[in-house]
Amino acid sequence: MRLDYLTIFPDFFAPLELSLPGKAAASGLLEFGVHDLRQWTHDRHRTVDDTPYGGGAGMVMKPEPWGEALAQVVAPGSTVVFTTPSGERFDQRLAEELATREHVVFACGRYEGIDQRVIDHAREVAEVREISLGDYVLNGGEVAALAVTEAVVRLLPGFMGNAASLVEESHAEGGLLEYPVYTKPRTWDGREVPAVLLSGDHGAIARWRREQAVRRTAERRPDLLHPSTLDDGSPIVRAT
Ligand code: SAM
Repeated sequence: MRLDYLTIFPDFFAPLELSLPGKAAASGLLEFGVHDLRQWTHDRHRTVDDTPYGGGAGMVMKPEPWGEALAQVVAPGSTVVFTTPSGERFDQRLAEELATREHVVFACGRYEGIDQRVIDHAREVAEVREISLGDYVLNGGEVAALAVTEAVVRLLPGFMGNAASLVEESHAEGGLLEYPVYTKPRTWDGREVPAVLLSGDHGAIARWRREQAVRRTAERRPDLLHPSTLDDGSPIVRAT
């Protein structure tokens, strides 16, 4: 998979060299390209913004540098992601969908956003997704692009050392939040690890984890509980 980032702050993407994404890039599983949008400007000040037509506060990203950038970076079959608080809300299902793509280009907005004609044009040459990280406003799209990247690339076959880690995670297929996890020592700060986890009884451990996952989901995110999620007959524990 190849991921390209169009931004006026390329330094935001230094973390791509760290940890598992960095290893995946070194091994050839992933390719990253980070591009300074200002390389597609032609004036002395390398201007990427201008005042909004119709008036109002703030500045809008000019279409010309974006047009040239997309012409150079987007290829047949690319998906272009515009990060925007007015996009579809990002979630695990969308991460799974993007993980099937060969090439994703992230267009990171700043100021009051990107001239709408850039997005309209991109739709004519590529698949476009407008994606919001959540119902709040960030200063720019870089942090959103990094969050989407991290959620997507960890789903790629071969990315995680142990693919089983993905199966029981929160928001995985099945929809429950993950059960609480513990490691050594058995006693810490006067607190014990639940005895069932030390029992060696794998059936009892699986049942306990399932109950904990259902309880936690009911308490914290009842909106995630569907009859299909509970079709093994687990009791729904409603938050009080
Ligand atoms: N004026 C815009 C609005 O009200 O929708 C907000 C612009 S915001 C200050 C600047 C840029 O940050 C946006 O163009 C977008 O790329 C990014 N951004 C802000 N909040 C975001 C969010 N929740 N999800 C994804 N990107 C976001």
